[in-house]
Amino acid sequence: MIPYSRQNIDKDDIQAVVNVLQSDFLTQGEQVPLFEKALCKIAQVKYSVAVNSATSALHLACLALDVGEGDLVWTSANTFVASANCALYCGAKIDFVDIDLATGNLSMSALAEKLTRASQIPKVVIPVHFAGQSCDMAALADLAKQYGFKIIEDASHALGASYQGQPVGNCQFSDITVFSFHPVKMATTGEGGALLTRSQTLAGRAKLLRSHGITRDSKLMTAAIPPWAYQQQGLGYNYRLTDMQAALGVSQLNRLDQFVEKRNSIALFYDRAFSGKQLLPLERNTGRSSVHLYVIRVEAAIREALFLELRKKGVGVNVHYMPVYWQPFYQELGFQKGLCECAEKYYCEAISLPVFPGLTGEQQQQVVDKVLQAVEKFS
Ligand SMILES: *Cc1c(COP(=O)(O)O)cnc(C)c1O
Repeated sequence: MIPYSRQNIDKDDIQAVVNVLQSDFLTQGEQVPLFEKALCKIAQVKYSVAVNSATSALHLACLALDVGEGDLVWTSANTFVASANCALYCGAKIDFVDIDLATGNLSMSALAEKLTRASQIPKVVIPVHFAGQSCDMAALADLAKQYGFKIIEDASHALGASYQGQPVGNCQFSDITVFSFHPVKMATTGEGGALLTRSQTLAGRAKLLRSHGITRDSKLMTAAIPPWAYQQQGLGYNYRLTDMQAALGVSQLNRLDQFVEKRNSIALFYDRAFSGKQLLPLERNTGRSSVHLYVIRVEAAIREALFLELRKKGVGVNVHYMPVYWQPFYQELGFQKGLCECAEKYYCEAISLPVFPGLTGEQQQQVVDKVLQAVEKFS
């Protein structure tokens, strides 16, 4: 089976991890700061805080922005559940914004319309750069200014992407950006995530929360303490990344450009092969996408048959995403189907095709052939 995504690990990656294993520190050594520095360089942003997953990063991002009980957070209906769960971890309420069918991204017009009839304005909006393409951040920042909400970019799909000539993660139009380093994403640490920000205050809060709310930094102490002591200044977590993971991350980031380049070339190959075929590939039109996913849309009536046929033929297709509020947990919270019309239509038609740096030309052609044959068979 050709998977829909797969990590790309080379000898340097392996050696980087082995080096850490043979060193003095497996965690809380020098690799995490090095990884954070590399992320700052890629995103051209001042601060980054690496943690053990993007889910943890989203949680800390919400906490750093003071999301708590009585607050409201909005995110895209078309995303992984973590983009919504983070608000609930903080005791806040969550609601969902509809998407643009053409891009799968949070729709700015749907958001603007929802804001005009909202009885409570969200404290934070979490746009998701679906499939690796940035949302319309300038429009979102305008709305944020008008209504006074904060922005956390869930850029789990979009490491290495750019928007208006700036790298995603540089936070020109947001308070915080979150990346994921899960193996299916653009670059991996096994499990891992990071939050990036221009704000020293937000970065400081996230750093504290990452490690139990504890600091050893003499500059941050609230009172004189003995030389061996540390201070717990808030209720934090253990969301730390290990040095093995960070070293793998540093090594992976050296090849990020190559990875994104390859994903884009595969997307172009698919675009050409499917042009004129009514398969409605996602539009990529707001800068360089990192092409985390390549999604086609087919008639809802044949989607499942097509999915099963492609799996049977060795093409590891997938579906991203069922609207979050269709999940049983969210249904039990009281969300009704019908809330986000476009996200629901999109979900019923979408199929994600394999795209990852190691996908060979032969495999790409195989994917195209199987897709076209299957569409022929069921149309
Ligand atoms: C993968 C993903 C996450 C969660 O990432 P983890 O690192 O696995 O916690 C969050 N949001 C989106 C949109 C994702 O795709």
